[in-house]
Amino acid sequence: MRDGAVDVIVVGGGIVGTAAAAFLAEAGARVLLVEREGLASGASGANSGVVQHPFDPAMAALYRTTLALYRDLSANGVGFRLPDEPAGMLFVSPREAAARTEAATITAAFPELSTEVVGGAALQAIEPAVGPGLWACRVDIGYPVVPAASTYGYATLAEARGTVVRQGRGASLELDGDTVVGVRVDGRLLTAGAVLVAAGPWTPGVLDPTDRWAPIQPRWGVVVEAELAAPPRHALEEAGIDTVMEWSPAGTDGTTPAREPAVEAVEFSLVPQPGASSVGSTFLDAEPDAGRWIEPILLRAARFVPGVADAPIRGVRACARPQCVDGRPLVGRVPGRERLFVCAGHGPWGISTGPASARLVADLVLGRDPVIPAELDPGRFGVPAA
Ligand SMILES: Cc1cc2nc3c(=O)[nH]c(=O)nc-3n(C[C@H](O)[C@H](O)[C@H](O)COP(=O)(O)OP(=O)(O)OC[C@H]3O[C@@H](n4cnc5c(N)ncnc54)[C@H](O)[C@@H]3O)c2cc1C
Repeated sequence: MRDGAVDVIVVGGGIVGTAAAAFLAEAGARVLLVEREGLASGASGANSGVVQHPFDPAMAALYRTTLALYRDLSANGVGFRLPDEPAGMLFVSPREAAARTEAATITAAFPELSTEVVGGAALQAIEPAVGPGLWACRVDIGYPVVPAASTYGYATLAEARGTVVRQGRGASLELDGDTVVGVRVDGRLLTAGAVLVAAGPWTPGVLDPTDRWAPIQPRWGVVVEAELAAPPRHALEEAGIDTVMEWSPAGTDGTTPAREPAVEAVEFSLVPQPGASSVGSTFLDAEPDAGRWIEPILLRAARFVPGVADAPIRGVRACARPQCVDGRPLVGRVPGRERLFVCAGHGPWGISTGPASARLVADLVLGRDPVIPAELDPGRFGVPAA
């Protein structure tokens, strides 16, 4: 690391940026975290709130490490608590075949996860909140957590270890040739020995302001906060939801005023939370008018959990998943640049995998030579143009 006012500037105060700051500061680095709005103001504060096993081997490895890191964070007394046991995930469908396909797909990739297909009255016996005539694949995964709690927890740790958090209009990189010397915030140059960009869906705009290099795109999700009289015991998701998480350059444009939001554009998910549960969600390419999606989301959810129809609504929120074109985050050095690192693009899995990737990139910045899987190498998308 080169001399600068601080050792490392972290750009972005979501789960990835705050966790990285906490790990860097733990090792004694002088860290400045710059955030343009507020900590957890993006998806890290507005997500559905479930720590969940991804069904991609590269992501699953990050998830397993994240569970261990969350156990440590829970023990730190910073307001985050990972439940001791998973609540269980139900992948629900009106079609038995869909539940069986989900179970077969999960078992084939992860034989260690025990799956069970249940339908009708047997399903209602293990999960009274679901409606009649449904089928589900049950998997013993899924830890409900307060959506913003892990980000705030890591921010608290980072600050306790000396990290300075600074709010200011969007940070931009300051370069000397190919070497990053710091960032500019509100017109002021802040120098550092290294810069880590963890700006979620806005990461490509920071690394390449020309927008020509853009392997990560925002995929907007709306979550309705509903106070269910009898919340489910499990976290629930529609069977087959992974298909809509795949990259789709021509996805649904939530801002098109001519078209009413359609129930069919919603993929059902529900995470029980103390107070209001998270009911979702959408996968939109443009920032939506969240209020217009309340009714379609609730109508679709009521097909699976009838109690949603009568539940008082306590709020609605929209946030953007940082969706990478190949579904995996970019973790490591930015090619073609010196002293510049990136950790972003966790898509729908950032709360479940972000801390492990932040640990890897923090170790890299610290010169500890961590083993970062090749499939996470930022170099797979070439060199940023600007
Ligand atoms: C509806 C929805 C539900 C979800 N539910 C879950 C879930 O249940 N479980 C799960 O694991 N994942 C879930 N996710 C995904 C998860 O929320 C994200 O993957 C994760 O929060 C991304 O974290 P991040 O730190 O990379 O980015 P972000 O949370 O987006 O943080 C990036 C931060 O960078 C800041 N920033 C941007 N540009 C600049 C700049 N130039 N200068 C300074 N600051 C900047 C932003 O203001 C923001 O605060 C969900 C996502 C959505 C949309």
